[in-house]
Amino acid sequence: MKFQSLISAAIVAAAGFTPVFADADDLFLTGAHIIDPETRTVETGNILIREGRIAGHPASAPDGFDGQVIALDGKWLAPAFVDLHTHSFGDAVPGNRPEGLGTPTVATHYLYAGTTAFLDLFGHEEGLAALRAAQKAGEFGGADLYASLSCLTAPNGHCTEYGVPTRTMSTPEEARVSVAELAAKKPDVVKFVYSQSDDMPSINNTTLTAGIAEASKHGIKTVVHVQTWQDMREAVEAGATAVTHTPEGDMPADMPALLKAHGTVSIPTITVHNEYLDYFFDSSILEAPMAQALASERVQAAYRDEKNIGRYRDSYDERKAKAEVRLTSVGALAEAGVPILLGTDGGNWGTVQGYSVHREMILLSDAGLDSFAVLKAASTDAADFLGLDYGVEEGALANLVVFDASPLDDISNTQTISLVIKDGDVVDRAALLQKAE
Ligand SMILES: [Zn+2]
Repeated sequence: MKFQSLISAAIVAAAGFTPVFADADDLFLTGAHIIDPETRTVETGNILIREGRIAGHPASAPDGFDGQVIALDGKWLAPAFVDLHTHSFGDAVPGNRPEGLGTPTVATHYLYAGTTAFLDLFGHEEGLAALRAAQKAGEFGGADLYASLSCLTAPNGHCTEYGVPTRTMSTPEEARVSVAELAAKKPDVVKFVYSQSDDMPSINNTTLTAGIAEASKHGIKTVVHVQTWQDMREAVEAGATAVTHTPEGDMPADMPALLKAHGTVSIPTITVHNEYLDYFFDSSILEAPMAQALASERVQAAYRDEKNIGRYRDSYDERKAKAEVRLTSVGALAEAGVPILLGTDGGNWGTVQGYSVHREMILLSDAGLDSFAVLKAASTDAADFLGLDYGVEEGALANLVVFDASPLDDISNTQTISLVIKDGDVVDRAALLQKAE
């Protein structure tokens, strides 16, 4: 498909005119229930896709249309998903070495799961920069890789424990220098670790503030990893664009208003906090068809391993109670109007790359967001954070997912994917899976 569009683009360029007639890549999708998470409406109708974008909702195909017509009667269509917090090396395997799938394979897992972009928030700086360039050059496909490239933290702070080189700093000046150096490599966001009460060292408040200010000078958004509510408070006050993770314990009552006042968004990553417990104690989670398609046998076996499960049996009730409090906090943030954006923290325990996007949507629903709000967090708002125009309106990027059953009735129906469209092309999902194996 890409190949053809390059050829037709070349022909058009050579002829020196704007194309009037559709080329073979154009799509006309008919009869779907079109979900617009932005306007919270559903309309049954058609979508015309040209040159990778939505070209309108005409009642019939334009005259001379020679693209592909796809009948979607009875199906549900929404903007594709974006994961704003992952580590794309692969999947964690509790009690064992991780499944090192590599970013290109993880990108195919994401696309299979209806997710057309993902934000890697720390891996190997040079490696991720090279992968991002290679993908842009067409060397591998799947969902689009965005990356913080590095993780800015204190010497011996969180992110230094993985054996992957990262950027450490102790003073505001060091933060400024490091962010300026990193900015030259065009990270899609700058990620900081700010966790004052952690067992590991953390950068201090003035260092964080200087780093955030330097990133914003370069026009780059910041995502700050926080551990406690006090960390979150200070990160918001320091000017973070986004805070990621949901601290344990009751949220201070003024927190939603504080985030709103500063225009800070939350990437709560409920999956990474709550799901390991569910994976160990609720076998249905890994029995879901999408989990079966994407989680390797080693990953699945680790969550069935009695030795792993046994370690959490005694503390299950206590951990489950903490998990419930987290849901309450996320629900209260959303209720107050703080933008909630989808992130999974893929690569950690209790996550499976691609599948966890759908698990996070279920958890956001459990937290009290209605289905429109969940889809908005997972698609249009998450994409907007990366500067991408996702949606179902004319002009939006044609990155779409089609479901057999309505996610508005039950958010777990996002797993009933029958079609994925990326950049205006129909994705061959079966081929993606073969590649994954
Ligand atoms: Zn993370």
